[in-house]
Amino acid sequence: MTRSLEQIVISPAELARFGTGTTLADQAHALLAQQKGVWEMLRNGYDTLRTVQTRVFDFDRFHIKVQFNPGRMTSTVAKVDATSIKERKCFLCLENLPPAQRGLACEADYLVLCNPFPIFPEHFTISCLRHTPQLIRHSLAAFLKITRDLGARYLVLYNGPRCGASAPDHLHFQAGNRSSLPLDAEFEGMKAACATRLFESAAVRVWSVENCLRHFFTFESANAGALEQSFAALYAVLQEGGPADEEPMLNILGFHTRDEWRIHVFPRAKHRPSFYFLEGEEKLLISPAAVELGGICTTPREADFARVTREHIVELYREVGVAPERFADLKTRLAARLAAAPPIGS
Ligand SMILES: [Zn+2]
Repeated sequence: MTRSLEQIVISPAELARFGTGTTLADQAHALLAQQKGVWEMLRNGYDTLRTVQTRVFDFDRFHIKVQFNPGRMTSTVAKVDATSIKERKCFLCLENLPPAQRGLACEADYLVLCNPFPIFPEHFTISCLRHTPQLIRHSLAAFLKITRDLGARYLVLYNGPRCGASAPDHLHFQAGNRSSLPLDAEFEGMKAACATRLFESAAVRVWSVENCLRHFFTFESANAGALEQSFAALYAVLQEGGPADEEPMLNILGFHTRDEWRIHVFPRAKHRPSFYFLEGEEKLLISPAAVELGGICTTPREADFARVTREHIVELYREVGVAPERFADLKTRLAARLAAAPPIGS
């Protein structure tokens, strides 16, 4: 029987015995404890997470973790072409949620749900109540508010519809423990060595970061409106010359600390590296999305975990990110656009 939204949303009273805090981050933490008690698939997912193995590859200013996580098979090999998506039941629509799954209401039309295939010690999917396509242009405001409300404990991420979202037809974000993702702790060091300040005002600082295997843009601000406008400038620059009705390929990682957001945007060139499509011994099942760009590469097969080399990692980031010439061009055009029309409060 289909449950109503009221039956799916869990109340603070029901959560009280799983945690006492009142912030969204506290409530999400409590929700996970409640769900582990009643939802077997979730419990199995977290049991699998306890068995993961990790290898760490050191690069000078940062490191990349490779995680063998058999629970990630479905998402790693997810078919996200239009036909496959049309033929499956949407796993984020309310009527298809498993009977034991409950959620927290947030931001008027979003629901915080526990992800049964975790990468993080606590891993959530934040899904829109409406079955509407994965597009960030008009959902960034909600992304920022949710990042702020979860920020004490979690990061929030967005995978574009062609860059790792396993439900490109249903708008959603994910959240996980910020301390687990290498990029957060390493960013200040990267910034000192590898970043160029493209724009700075009282409201927002915009950086380009390169030579860290990844090329990306970082926005720092305490002002949500200034962030939205700065992001809109980047979005326009990414979209120039491409199809107007398609979102540029990108992944986003969002953090919120001490009243300020730090938003990293990774422009992409490809969904999957070429070794993903090889056969036999040469094939490696790694399908990069925001988590990988933050420094955790997951693979669901133990043989791939044993076989992956430093060279594979370098190759992976080189192939799925934009080429240096393209990034240089994006930097120039973004800086010019921000200078010509500074974000509010600047
Ligand atoms: Zn849906």
